[in-house]
Amino acid sequence: DQSSSSAPVKYKVVFLGDQSVGKTSIILRFMHDTFDSQYQATIGIDFLSKTMLVDDKMVRLQLWDTAGQERFKSLIPSYIQDSSFAIVCYDITSKASFEHVRTWVEDARNIRGDDVSIIVVGNKIDLADQREIYTEEGTKLASELGVEFIEVSAKAGINIKALFKTLASNLPGAD
Ligand code: GDP
Ligand code: MG
Repeated sequence: DQSSSSAPVKYKVVFLGDQSVGKTSIILRFMHDTFDSQYQATIGIDFLSKTMLVDDKMVRLQLWDTAGQERFKSLIPSYIQDSSFAIVCYDITSKASFEHVRTWVEDARNIRGDDVSIIVVGNKIDLADQREIYTEEGTKLASELGVEFIEVSAKAGINIKALFKTLASNLPGAD
């Protein structure tokens, strides 16, 4: 029975991407609709859960926030291994972070194959005047890699709901 009264189906979602692209900020915007400009470095791996209603079904998302520090990097593959979704983030004002997207996507594919749905996210679109990566470049890379793509701003709260709608529309068995 999949009605809304039954226990929620759980999905793990791992956030990947270079340090300071805004992974923690995107999660906090989605969870609490807040943005904290104080820099809070993620230490190791954290998780938060949120229940969403998707097509009359309760879905519980477990969001795994990772950090790229060397001493934690070796832990990331085991979180990818467990996840149905990988959200690969870059910062539209950082070419380097964009150039690493391919590697993060390949890591997820190598570990999880087609069992992981991948969404590439370009964050910080509020910083339009500092943009280094145009929307078209993000779209092109995502279509080359065969993954979803969206641009967001955790700070301004732009497209964060749309990101999780995209995720919901890619739930296994949701088609
Ligand atoms: P993480 O290392 O990927 O988890 O990145 P954080 O979420 O810690 O964010 C790194 C820095 O970027 C912090 O100073 C944030 O305040 C800032 N930041 C995050 N998202 C945005 C955004 O959408 N716009 C702007 N302007 N800054 C952001
Ligand atoms: Mg973080």
